[in-house]
Amino acid sequence: MGISKTQGIVLKYTNLGEADKILTILTRSKGKVKAVAKGCRKPKSNLLASSEIFAFSEFVLYKGSSMYHISQADTKETFYNLRNDLLKLSYAVFFVEMADAVSEEELTNERLFLLLAKALYYLAEGEIPIGLINLAYQLKLMDISGYRPSIQRCVHCGKTEVQGYKFDIVLGGIICDECEKFGKNIIRVSPGSLEAIKSLLNSEISRLNTLKIDNTIFNEIDKLTKRFVEAHLDKHFKSLDFLNEIKNSNV
Ligand SMILES: [Zn+2]
Repeated sequence: MGISKTQGIVLKYTNLGEADKILTILTRSKGKVKAVAKGCRKPKSNLLASSEIFAFSEFVLYKGSSMYHISQADTKETFYNLRNDLLKLSYAVFFVEMADAVSEEELTNERLFLLLAKALYYLAEGEIPIGLINLAYQLKLMDISGYRPSIQRCVHCGKTEVQGYKFDIVLGGIICDECEKFGKNIIRVSPGSLEAIKSLLNSEISRLNTLKIDNTIFNEIDKLTKRFVEAHLDKHFKSLDFLNEIKNSNV
């Protein structure tokens, strides 16, 4: 039976029987895997911490007939700070839900793994504004998944000198006046927003603090990103509804 060692982050789990869980883990070297954590719900289990959502561990997995089993787990980070702040928790749930949506079982995607690990780390750490982490995470995740927004050339004809500032959500980039008639779902976007999207895509999450994005531009990119993600991943994220509810409540 094959035994392998890999870093991984728990995206979700379902309880199994009295004391077990089936974990969905985004691993660094094997893509997404489902693995049984036997006995992990027992208070004294040494898999207890590593089978919680968001937990980052070094896993030793062995492949059974239908699923992986966890034989050992060394927890590196539980991201405890994400659990005692409702807003951070909601973003973290959204991040893992998105990673789950774009990852495939046993298809290695190290960039996605590292992006999720960094996003959770800086979200928990609290030094970088949450809104910036959120936008950068979504744009980078779309890029990794093959949907990098085209912000320098017309998404339809490829022309670089594009007048007017229209962004086609469905085609996934700016569109020139001549090609507008081929557009699918066009919204207006300011030059400042295009610059900021470029910076968000090209900056390390750890360096987001150095970006200056004013509120108007932030809100424009926020709306564009939300529609862009929904159009291409064709998925409604329930965690996002809850997130908006928290953000819009005054209590
Ligand atoms: Zn064009």
